[in-house]
Amino acid sequence: MSVDLGETWDALGTSASEEAEDRSLIDGLHRRLAARLWEQLNALVTDWTQVVDAQGAVGRVPLLLDQVDREEVPEAWDELWDRLCLHGETVSAASFAALPRLAALAPACAQALELASAIVRGTLRHPDGEALLAACPNEVARLRELVDQRLRTRPGDYHRLFGDLLALAGQYHWSASLGDFADDFYAVSCPGCEAEVTIAIGDCGCYAATREWDQGDVERRSLRPALAEELRDPGRWMHATAGRDGQQRLAEGIRYVFGRAECPACASVFNVAEAHTTANLPPSVETY
Ligand SMILES: [Zn+2]
Repeated sequence: MSVDLGETWDALGTSASEEAEDRSLIDGLHRRLAARLWEQLNALVTDWTQVVDAQGAVGRVPLLLDQVDREEVPEAWDELWDRLCLHGETVSAASFAALPRLAALAPACAQALELASAIVRGTLRHPDGEALLAACPNEVARLRELVDQRLRTRPGDYHRLFGDLLALAGQYHWSASLGDFADDFYAVSCPGCEAEVTIAIGDCGCYAATREWDQGDVERRSLRPALAEELRDPGRWMHATAGRDGQQRLAEGIRYVFGRAECPACASVFNVAEAHTTANLPPSVETY
């Protein structure tokens, strides 16, 4: 079923004085949209028992979720990880189909929250990941709120949870690539001259340099961190979240990542975050 909005718009425009006709047209449009949504919802519900998981099985995941819902079974969680997020990264349609169940378990179960977050982190690794995730916006919002609450308690695994939060906010690139700034190096390409530039942020220093295999980082130029008040989203939000939770190193690193660097080869000044994003686009969105 398809709704031709162009045709609908034309019809509205040419019969503006005929309000009854307009109302009937809009009612019809609403009915057709509602029917389409219902069709999609039914497809999702039906799929739940039909979706093949990463191990090629159908129906095993719902059984496992029933099991962990009743009692704590470590083996069942191990199997769920294997079927839904193998090695912490391989996701399938079954993984996204399991998200609503995992989100329902997550408030009382750290395992469910971790697995659900890991699946969301893998969104761009699946060709239909974004569309599948878009089918459960309420669950994603709930998971994001739960992770945010955990972060406020300043847990020992803060950095991993911060990456989960970024993915749940749709920042997959930063979720996959943001370091902890203890001793981070990023290889980027200068947008001015295409020279490879090494960006260092951490205890080793905060600089842009040319990396020589026999001499290390030479021609170092100090990075120019963004002022907190200059930051724009997502940098502003990331910086504010880290600062709220007392993660000073992370907050400072974010100012450098969203700041500027001078190219040692051509002296042009460029935005580090933009160059970093270009250098680290996931394979699924690269174009050749
Ligand atoms: Zn350059």
